Amino acid sequence: MLSFNRLLARIGAVLVVVSSASVAAQSSQMLGHVSITELDKQLTIHSFTAPEESELVNSHIIETPNRLIMIDGQFFRDYAKQLRGYVDGLGKPLDRVYLSHQHPDHWFGLEMFAETPIYAQAEIAKELEAKANMFIKVRRKEFGERVTATPAHVDNVITSATTIDGIKFEFELVKDAEADYQTIVRLPQYKVAFVQDLLSNNAHAFFAKLDFSSWQTQLNYLQTHYSDWRLFIGHGFPAEADADAITQQQQYLETAERIVNSDENIDQAAMTEAMLKEYPSLGAAPLVDISSMFFHKILKPRLEQQPQ
Ligand SMILES: [Zn+2]
Repeated sequence: MLSFNRLLARIGAVLVVVSSASVAAQSSQMLGHVSITELDKQLTIHSFTAPEESELVNSHIIETPNRLIMIDGQFFRDYAKQLRGYVDGLGKPLDRVYLSHQHPDHWFGLEMFAETPIYAQAEIAKELEAKANMFIKVRRKEFGERVTATPAHVDNVITSATTIDGIKFEFELVKDAEADYQTIVRLPQYKVAFVQDLLSNNAHAFFAKLDFSSWQTQLNYLQTHYSDWRLFIGHGFPAEADADAITQQQQYLETAERIVNSDENIDQAAMTEAMLKEYPSLGAAPLVDISSMFFHKILKPRLEQQPQ
């Protein structure tokens, strides 16, 4: 039988789904969407998807018999607060947060989970340490108090697989895909993998790249090694990827590469416009301009500084 808290959390989830449109009409605050995947009596995955304005970014809560383990922690404060409320409603202790990579849309909201230890692989811990303050400065300039002023720190570096409450967790480091470093968290007993920003679903991706080949290679690797796994993703809805998501992501990257290389004088606005024109119905549209901005402000100047 469901405990009262658990029942509340479930009712809450249903309310989130049902009431989002009407609540949004009454106030400027929108609601995240929760989808629940019950794998068996030992394991349920709750995926919290932020609204479009927060890039449909996903946090996943893995519920074991006695614990909760979270993957990533949202971007805007208001959605992190909603996520915290949902986690509290499940009525089990949040054991830890696994951070998939250092991009701010995945950790800014962790200030709402200040007492929960953050775990990440060493490369990601290092990147976070180096870049957290820069991310805060840049994003607060744009969004002010809606985003955190507190950098997150990794409390525990992941060195090997671990078992929590009977569930085995394994970690795989992926280099040079959407981020310089990214972790796949996987639960081999269930053939479930949290691939986060390697893959989007019906959504744009952060595509600022000079070289797209490595990300494409990683997607081929996913296609080969994870074809019969359930893949949970970083941006988009549903938060579990459908069968075509990898192929669609590969085609999306081919398009992005073509646009990035189409004209060496293409500016930020034109790049954004070209991508939105190619994919007018994809979600997480704010990621397009962030990608164009990053390409023009960071990557292009870096390229121009390289000796010929
Ligand atoms: Zn992301």
